[in-house]
Amino acid sequence: MVSRVIPVEPFDLIIFGGTGDLARRKVLPALYRRFLSGQMPEKARIIGAARSDLDSAGYRKLIGAALKEFVSEKARKPDTVKAFLKRLEYVSIDATGTDGWQDLAKLVRADVIKAYYFSVGPALFAPLAERLHENGITGSKCRIVVEKPFGHDLASARALNDTLAKYFDEAQIYRIDHYLGKETVQNLMAVRFGNILFEPLWNAQYIDHVQITVAETVSVGGRGGYYDKSGAMRDMIQNHLMQLLCLTAMEPPSKFDPDAVRDEKLKVIRALQPVDSSDIVRGQYAGDEDEPSYIEHSENPDSITESFIAMKLHIANWRWNGTPFYLRTGKRMRARVSEIVVRFKEPPHSIFDADAGTNANQLTIRLQPNEGMDLLVTIKEPGPGGMRLIEVPLDMTFADALGQDDDEVADAYERLIMDVIRGNQTLFMRGDEVEAAWSWTDPIIEGWTKRGDKPKLYEPGTAGPEDALMLLHKDGRRWRDLKP
Ligand code: NAP
Repeated sequence: MVSRVIPVEPFDLIIFGGTGDLARRKVLPALYRRFLSGQMPEKARIIGAARSDLDSAGYRKLIGAALKEFVSEKARKPDTVKAFLKRLEYVSIDATGTDGWQDLAKLVRADVIKAYYFSVGPALFAPLAERLHENGITGSKCRIVVEKPFGHDLASARALNDTLAKYFDEAQIYRIDHYLGKETVQNLMAVRFGNILFEPLWNAQYIDHVQITVAETVSVGGRGGYYDKSGAMRDMIQNHLMQLLCLTAMEPPSKFDPDAVRDEKLKVIRALQPVDSSDIVRGQYAGDEDEPSYIEHSENPDSITESFIAMKLHIANWRWNGTPFYLRTGKRMRARVSEIVVRFKEPPHSIFDADAGTNANQLTIRLQPNEGMDLLVTIKEPGPGGMRLIEVPLDMTFADALGQDDDEVADAYERLIMDVIRGNQTLFMRGDEVEAAWSWTDPIIEGWTKRGDKPKLYEPGTAGPEDALMLLHKDGRRWRDLKP
């Protein structure tokens, strides 16, 4: 099946940090794939900007090499790569100084959409916003894209929002969380609000609990110093898992429009109850023959930063009263899995004999691997021998169901960058959402910091510390297995 390509207006996309890891690994490969699909208009241009002393030819060479590394061979058609690279320009610029700004001002066009992608460390967000303004290259056709982290606590998030608000309207600020660009995340909304089947059951009366897991097999590796100041709570729960939680728990928005959706997400965050310390399990991975331990990676022998966290949350509203949400995320775990599991209650009464067994329905929304969803339904075990109930999955992997191969399934960055050009903020976080998330997160972190709670050690290649399993066991529940 060929995806529908909706044309976009001509644009100048300026990537600050255009030589960096994110730009080379994600942003430019995503733009290439949009170019390949025919979505990039004739007059669209991409301008890389960083301090490195390169000219446009040198930049094209750098990005040509990045495409070789990060775009599949099948999608790399030599003529298309050549034509794409022609769209690239480069400006050597210093975000904190004056070098290069005049060159950039000359290059960007006044009459097309200008998207400034801040693919640089957060310390440079404010100087960049300031300089864009001073050099007169903003205006109503301009928007900025900022990458997480959006602060490290409420105070810093507010300071960042205030700085950006000095120069840009909220409608011009696109805070990227690539989880929101995933096909499955949007499908969560399509499934919930495009079918009559699920929404009537989507509440505490019928749902026993919800699990949200984002497990990684990688370690913090060379990022140990940075990660040690952050930890799983700030790095993953406050943003990615919080967003997944919001989309799962929110009320139906009146329409699929940016503010209607974001208003509903905000209400969920504001309804989150404070979390009791007994409902939180934090962990640090041990070392093994393949890799050093977390402590060795962080180079801080006294670190109490968590590389794993599991927690039980309650949402204080009519819909969810009594239905817990369990969240877990960690590094060096058994499998790389991101999924939302909605566990329904068992039928209120069984008409079958006691030995027939009972099952609860379960909807799993998989973000990775194999984006898709499956629904466990109860059927009769085939064959003679009376009525015995078994559960079987109605399984849909999007790529299979829609006849797409991996190269055709648009990556999150492709969708989100094109949404920036289209001016659609539905899948981006609003400033008040970010602040509300920190308001809920800060006291939890302060609590364990004050108490000096130490994370539990867990073996790499497992599902985290034993206590994380107990978090559900003590409620008579269990995590879905982490399958590699
Ligand atoms: P990176 O590899 O260190 O790249 C940083 C970029 O910024 C380089 O192009 C660097 O080029 C440029 N730069 C640094 N100082 C500059 C200055 N004063 N003026 C102009 N350009 C400057 O970092 P990254 O991994 O790409 O990450 C960029 C941002 O995205 C960070 O905020 C990060 O947290 C976020 N992020 C990254 C990822 C990822 O997968 N990498 C994922 C999510 C979010 P020069 O040295 O040539 O100036």
